[in-house]
Amino acid sequence: MEEFRACLNCSCAKGFPVSFRRTSTGKVRIMPVCPNCGQAYDAGRSTSGAETFKAEKRLLY
Ligand SMILES: [Zn+2]
Repeated sequence: MEEFRACLNCSCAKGFPVSFRRTSTGKVRIMPVCPNCGQAYDAGRSTSGAETFKAEKRLLY
């Protein structure tokens, strides 16, 4: 797969905001979520460690 941009559930092709979910091993999984239908995907990626994971505000676009 060269690019994952379109939702497999509703075909929305706007790309994905992401959510983060802590796993039982303490890592944080990165999960794309469709902005149209809300379908979440497991991208198969997680942080190497996230003991101090917390959200901090950055630039507002
Ligand atoms: Zn969708």
